[in-house]
Amino acid sequence: MKSILHSKNILFISKYLLVGLQVLFLVSCISSQQVTQMGLAEFQNIKEKQKISKNQTYKKQVERVSKRLLQAMGETGEWEFVVFEDDTPNAFALPGGKVGIHTGIFQITKTDAGLATVLSHEIAHVLQGHSLSQVNKAQGVGLAGLAINVILLQSDADKQTIISTNQAYAALTQIGFMLPNSRAHEYEADIVGMQYMAKAGYNPAEAVKLWERFADYNKKKGKSTTPEFLRTHPLDASRIKALRQELPKANAIYQRSKS
Ligand SMILES: [Zn+2]
Repeated sequence: MKSILHSKNILFISKYLLVGLQVLFLVSCISSQQVTQMGLAEFQNIKEKQKISKNQTYKKQVERVSKRLLQAMGETGEWEFVVFEDDTPNAFALPGGKVGIHTGIFQITKTDAGLATVLSHEIAHVLQGHSLSQVNKAQGVGLAGLAINVILLQSDADKQTIISTNQAYAALTQIGFMLPNSRAHEYEADIVGMQYMAKAGYNPAEAVKLWERFADYNKKKGKSTTPEFLRTHPLDASRIKALRQELPKANAIYQRSKS
């Protein structure tokens, strides 16, 4: 009996050692394909947990604007845009071309061009591979959790195991996936996004106006209730200033799109 338990323990420990080694291996080389796989799993997770909006006006606007943006960019990959029932003005992107939009953001986007600003910003995060570089930059426990998830996705782990592991690494997801929170990434997504929308024939000056409306909303709400989107997309004067500086370039693209 004792020896059986003992060997069981050894088996148990060696199993974890093996996982540990796999984690160490994966930490050193997470590929973009694996990050895409994790993005798809996470989006599925969110769709199961969060209420999807039935608002046809929002849905149609998102379809219309995203289609026009992707077409202008010559993007032929698979994309999915889902509107979630949530009053907080937020939007997020996951690797693998998955974009979530909260119903609460429509009070700020208002027009097609306003929505194009948000969507092109999120598309830019995906196409510039911000999640991957964020993941590769992440260190320690969080990344280990991420790597464990990769193992689970690659193995035949049952769904419940994957879900509970997903919950455990939800905190990491916030840092690594949804919120490419470095200043450099935000700046790049803003500028590249503004060029995308200009190419699709949306006036890039509307991008500046959208961020100004966000700033106003923020001011009215007060700092303590700053929406998630703004906490991770710090909206200071320098950000709007950078957009204004890049506006002439985007304007030239806009003029070409009309001719
Ligand atoms: Zn962003």
